[in-house]
Amino acid sequence: MSKEITARSQDYAQWYNDLVLKGGLADYSAVRGCMVIKPYGFALWENMRDELDRKFKETGHQNAYFPLFIPKSFLSKEADHVEGFAKECAVVTHYRLKNDPENGGVVVDPEAKLEEELIVRPTSETIIWNTYKDWIQSYRDLPILVNQWANVVRWEMRTRLFLRTAEFLWQEGHTAHATAEEAVAETVQMLDVYADFVQNFMAVPVIKGVKSPSERFAGAVDTYCIEALMQDGKALQAGTSHFLGQNFAKAFDVQFSNKENKLEYVWATSWGVSTRLVGALVMAHSDDDGLILPPRIAPLQVVIVPIYKGNDQKAGIDAKVEGIVKELKALGIRVKYDDNDNSRPGWKFAEYEMKGVPVRIAIGARDIENNVAEIARRDTKTKSSQSLDGIAQYIQNLLEEIQNGMFQKALDYRDSHITKADSWDEFEKLLDEKGGFISAHWDGSAETEAAIKERTKATIRCIPLNNPQEAGACILTGKPSKERVLFARAY
Ligand code: AMP
Repeated sequence: MSKEITARSQDYAQWYNDLVLKGGLADYSAVRGCMVIKPYGFALWENMRDELDRKFKETGHQNAYFPLFIPKSFLSKEADHVEGFAKECAVVTHYRLKNDPENGGVVVDPEAKLEEELIVRPTSETIIWNTYKDWIQSYRDLPILVNQWANVVRWEMRTRLFLRTAEFLWQEGHTAHATAEEAVAETVQMLDVYADFVQNFMAVPVIKGVKSPSERFAGAVDTYCIEALMQDGKALQAGTSHFLGQNFAKAFDVQFSNKENKLEYVWATSWGVSTRLVGALVMAHSDDDGLILPPRIAPLQVVIVPIYKGNDQKAGIDAKVEGIVKELKALGIRVKYDDNDNSRPGWKFAEYEMKGVPVRIAIGARDIENNVAEIARRDTKTKSSQSLDGIAQYIQNLLEEIQNGMFQKALDYRDSHITKADSWDEFEKLLDEKGGFISAHWDGSAETEAAIKERTKATIRCIPLNNPQEAGACILTGKPSKERVLFARAY
């Protein structure tokens, strides 16, 4: 089985595709840039969704749902917003087909042209702020803390399974506040929620920061982000939280009367993470034998495989395993007893390895006699023999250890891939030979940022929060700089 996966060292991009396709996470679809998320991949997304949803509710948010279609005129109301999204919009122009045999069969009915074209939402600020106009009159109506789970469409030209698709699943939070301070606090709070989730559930370390003006969300005053590092040294934007100022309130004329009975424009935030996180999970942890999933996200945490000859041995193992499964389930552990006799243990081992199940327990007839089982860890590929007494507790602790070990490993890799560069030569050399984040001075201009991107494909991933102030000279222009920023080649 492992032979079918391209090695990372040979072709990292192909390795990733092999894992997604052969690991049963997703398939390509008939529609360019759109993917089919298969049950195992969707189970990962569901686990992410459930945990994030819990965190959103814990921080006072409620879910709602807004339409898939946005009138074209709405999108145009915020100038930066439309400029940012215009190039990747899917537009609905007609609402009916008709049968026209002379012209080759079913065609768009020219008489069914929409009066106003509709955009398939690339993000929902405009339709939501058009709605908030009706919801908000006074300071008593604020804050509004709403989240939506939805699909969106951005007509991306270069797509990658999960990481960048034309249609993707995500959540988008859209909040409305009476003051700028409150909106900024919300923006930062949600960034923290994302960072906490990605680090503690996905075991992927992230750097929190703000984007440079040219990497900002279209229509935002400030874009906060979490940036992760993949095993090939490329960065991935794992989540964003935007302080939108009063831009959308002004575009949609959303005002409230404050406590002094004066009209003021409402302050806004929006924040989102997408199915891209599934790609991040795959790329951050897996190896040449398949997926490696952190226990907290893994749809299946433990698999038990019996090894036997004949029905008598099988019956003895079944009886013992039944008790173990019960104990594990009682501890909330997601476990499966795979006693399917259509495939051999070796095949099952390879299959669960490919699927990244964190712990495998193999039990044979001899093990039952000795009251032990063989425990194999997917992350370190180590095996040990453990007593069946107290096995459930042992497994529970082991899952915790695996979760922490995976985070530590990713953190060590990440930390060893943040390198300072103080000259252009050094900068280019680091990008080509080592990758990762490069901490370097930048003169703060969009022109320089674009020139660096043009020459190296590296972008400013973020200006880290609480960034130390340090006088220096721009890596490209030599002009004065007040702080280092993080550059990387990115997905
Ligand atoms: P944005 O609205 O641009 O701030 O993006 C919100 C979230 O969706 C971020 O976490 C992005 O990384 C992610 N995202 C943006 N474009 C795509 C895409 N084409 N496919 C998957 N995820 C995306």
